[in-house]
Amino acid sequence: MRTVIKNANYFDTTNLSFAGDSTIVIEDEIILSVGETAIGSADAVIDAANQFVLPGLIDAHVHFRLATLNFHRLAELSEVEFGIMMARLATETVHRGFTTVRDLCGEVDSLMRAIRTGLVVGPRIVRAGLSLTQTGGHGDAESGRRPVPQWAGSMRHNSFGIVADGVEAVRKAARHVLREGSDFIKIHVSGGVASPNDPLEAIQYTPEEIATVVREAQNRHTYVAAHAYSPASIAMAVENGVHSIEHGNLIDAKAAAALVDHGAVLVPTLVTYFGMREAGAKFGLPATNALKNQKVLEAGLASLEIAKSAGVSIGFGTDLIGELQNLQNREFAIRSEVQSAHEILHAMYVVNPKLCRLEGKVGVIKSGAFADLVISKANPLDDIKVLADPRINFSAIIKGGVRIL
Ligand SMILES: [Zn+2]
Repeated sequence: MRTVIKNANYFDTTNLSFAGDSTIVIEDEIILSVGETAIGSADAVIDAANQFVLPGLIDAHVHFRLATLNFHRLAELSEVEFGIMMARLATETVHRGFTTVRDLCGEVDSLMRAIRTGLVVGPRIVRAGLSLTQTGGHGDAESGRRPVPQWAGSMRHNSFGIVADGVEAVRKAARHVLREGSDFIKIHVSGGVASPNDPLEAIQYTPEEIATVVREAQNRHTYVAAHAYSPASIAMAVENGVHSIEHGNLIDAKAAAALVDHGAVLVPTLVTYFGMREAGAKFGLPATNALKNQKVLEAGLASLEIAKSAGVSIGFGTDLIGELQNLQNREFAIRSEVQSAHEILHAMYVVNPKLCRLEGKVGVIKSGAFADLVISKANPLDDIKVLADPRINFSAIIKGGVRIL
């Protein structure tokens, strides 16, 4: 299957600018050439005259397993219900222009297989698989009274993560998720908004436990991503080798400097807090969690400002749960309060592909890259909010050479 896009004013990721009219030739799922070649024979021709051709959008923090914001319901979903809901979320994601996502917790391998075999339309997924959390940590979703564990190393798990305490247990858990195919490892090192047991400022895991997981990831030539809000938890994580800090809303200048010193990346996810404020209660978010949400919401834009002025490498994520995932593109509009269009596109097309370990394959329009493209009627460099409104502004979406829109 050969698709040709003519009059393609395409986004050049190297210069963060549009390169002028070219012809893009797509062969099956790969971009064959970009240049001024003759069109030749093609199965399909798209004329992109007067439009803007972008690499497919990339979200570095999504959750397909968190298929609903109603956590009581989430705990009782069958695998069939999960499958139906996750398939719908995946399809809607591509229709918003996101052709690559990094999934931050839970079993999504069967969804990936369904997408790969054409059973369902969905994005390229890079996944953490089951996340690691301590007893009472952000990833420990069990509420109510629990029996006292029988022994220190006893572990629990569900389809989202593993509860593991102590160096030996986290080493075993890390090796397990890597064996299962995780592309990187996700851990929780501070409290979180949606969990039942932990205050936001709680520090989770010890330096020894974190360093143990990092060692296992590095031995597999990958890295550790950590959910973290407070400055102390952020600093502890990066000082022990964590590569990406997810959220980081309560970051201060000192923690930001620690990120820079260790070459770590921050992945802010601002839209999720706006979403939870507006619609959380409607979908079953308890009042105590709404209170925690308000705190990180208020700190969100300030954290981006602090990270930016410290020179932290910043990625682009959303972290939306279940029903709120339809707000995904709004992250562009929220960030534009602090970041320029260039900075946002740099986060998405330069930093995110590295986090996905798909450099040169996604986030770029060049020979040999995946044919993941979005054609926009308006120029996002003039106004990044163009990307916040895909239904109005996108005239075509192509994932792996297949036209979705
Ligand atoms: Zn998350």
